[in-house]
Amino acid sequence: MAGTSRHIQPTVEDLNLLIEISQMLTLLDRDRLLDRVVEVAAKSFGAERATLLLNPDAPSDWQQILIRYRADDSSIEHMDPTQSVRFARRAWDKGLAGIVAREKHGIIIQDTNEDTRWQKFENSTSAARSVLCVPFVLNNNMVIGVLTLQHSDAAQFDENDLALLTIIANQASVALSNAQLFHNLQQTESKLQGILSAMPDPIVVIDNSDRVIMMNEGADSLRQQGVTLELGKLITDCIAPDSPFQQIVPLVKEARPLKETRTWEVHSQTARRDFQVQASSWASRGQTNEGHAFVVRDITALRDLNRFKDEMLHLASHDLRSPLALIVGYCSLIELDIEPDSIINEHIQAIYRATTRMQGLMDDLLRVEKIRTSALELMEMLSVRELVESAAANVQAEFEAKGQSFTLSFEVDEDAVVRGNKGLLREALENYLNNAQKYTPAGGAVRLAVRPSGQNLKISVEDTGIGIPEEAIQRVFEAFYRARQVGTEQVEGRGFGLHLVKTILERHGGSVWVTSKAGMGSIFGMELPRA
Ligand code: ADP
Repeated sequence: MAGTSRHIQPTVEDLNLLIEISQMLTLLDRDRLLDRVVEVAAKSFGAERATLLLNPDAPSDWQQILIRYRADDSSIEHMDPTQSVRFARRAWDKGLAGIVAREKHGIIIQDTNEDTRWQKFENSTSAARSVLCVPFVLNNNMVIGVLTLQHSDAAQFDENDLALLTIIANQASVALSNAQLFHNLQQTESKLQGILSAMPDPIVVIDNSDRVIMMNEGADSLRQQGVTLELGKLITDCIAPDSPFQQIVPLVKEARPLKETRTWEVHSQTARRDFQVQASSWASRGQTNEGHAFVVRDITALRDLNRFKDEMLHLASHDLRSPLALIVGYCSLIELDIEPDSIINEHIQAIYRATTRMQGLMDDLLRVEKIRTSALELMEMLSVRELVESAAANVQAEFEAKGQSFTLSFEVDEDAVVRGNKGLLREALENYLNNAQKYTPAGGAVRLAVRPSGQNLKISVEDTGIGIPEEAIQRVFEAFYRARQVGTEQVEGRGFGLHLVKTILERHGGSVWVTSKAGMGSIFGMELPRA
């Protein structure tokens, strides 16, 4: 087309070029798209050289920002990234590309010798006399690149070429932006796939019609359990009839609120393995439940450890108890033969104290284990009012003795009930109250409050006591943990009460929490489902 006289009316050639370009623009491969635009534009306009320079300031992750086409050998050249950034910067700041980018419309230079807008840069191999340069503008606003066609003879391009190349550039900008979006999507997907496959535990996602829509490499290990997953297949068809996971699908699919995680255990008799399945519903932004996701963990090792723990507890309860009783017995015998104020008696008393402490520790451990694992009466309907009042009555005298005020505020209906074990729940409450009494100086105040919390009840015990240092707050519910607090050296305790409270509440489907500030007091709370 170049060099021929042109009319503003589009010719058949122009139209064919536009058709060719628009077909090409459906390409979603970003880098190939750029190469093709440069090549077709150069050929169609008879240019000897075409250069596409991408905006070095645009927020993007282009592989290359400079693409150069040479007509003599039909070659496409991609400059290496560092060199091309330097080149782009120079052209963008000082060259014709920069002018076009700033003005946001194309420019024709009929003769570079006569036009000061054309800069011949040092080391440039360009012999351009005619130049046609157009911006790639996105959304009428952002210039994402500039395409420059060159010819070594003067007056090779006219207004019609400019108009046509501008149309091509506009179309290419839209296509580029689509390709960029697609590229971003692919990047996100491949990142997600990478993250998923980095997870060793099997992860499976199904949609609302029970089809597998995502899984990771870890899910392959479920084959040994009769679960052979395939994308697009119904999850029920992926599980063999004799698989231990057969029972799990109907459970996973039970409608539950989003983000609520449910957990089940699956035991494989044949493989002698134990698994934990955690499932929750998933949804894209703004949608309601769109399916379910579940993660499977092999907990066989944990189970073995648990068995080992049970054996240790058995050992503690039986095999260690007898020798301890023997030590206590012999100590009593020795005591008979010695003077009460002798040094040996002092040693005997030290042995007594140590063995009593050991017996206490063992009793605590066994107690918690029993609450956790044995069958308990947990279904009794209990009046919350009666529960808190009876716990309060048991500690009232101690508050009075220490000159502490105690108040009870009841902010739920009088007949509120919870289901549970009366003795254990009262013990949990008494533990909170006893601690409040122990860790609050004389003259302080303790307040017990019962409040509603959705479907649950919250019971809190607030004191004006010594509070808990920040670093200890996380740990106070651990077994045998005692925080280091000034002034508590004389306060007796084994650091087990709060652990017992936590165990009791967990056994009742409830939870515990604490907020506290050293020197300012503490609030210990428990939450229980309402019956
Ligand atoms: P114990 O009181 O026998 O040490 P607990 O398990 O009841 O054991 O409590 C664990 C630790 O939590 C206590 O040693 C104490 O440091 C801290 N603590 C518990 N209740 C309070 C409270 N009301 N105020 C300040 N510290 C407390």
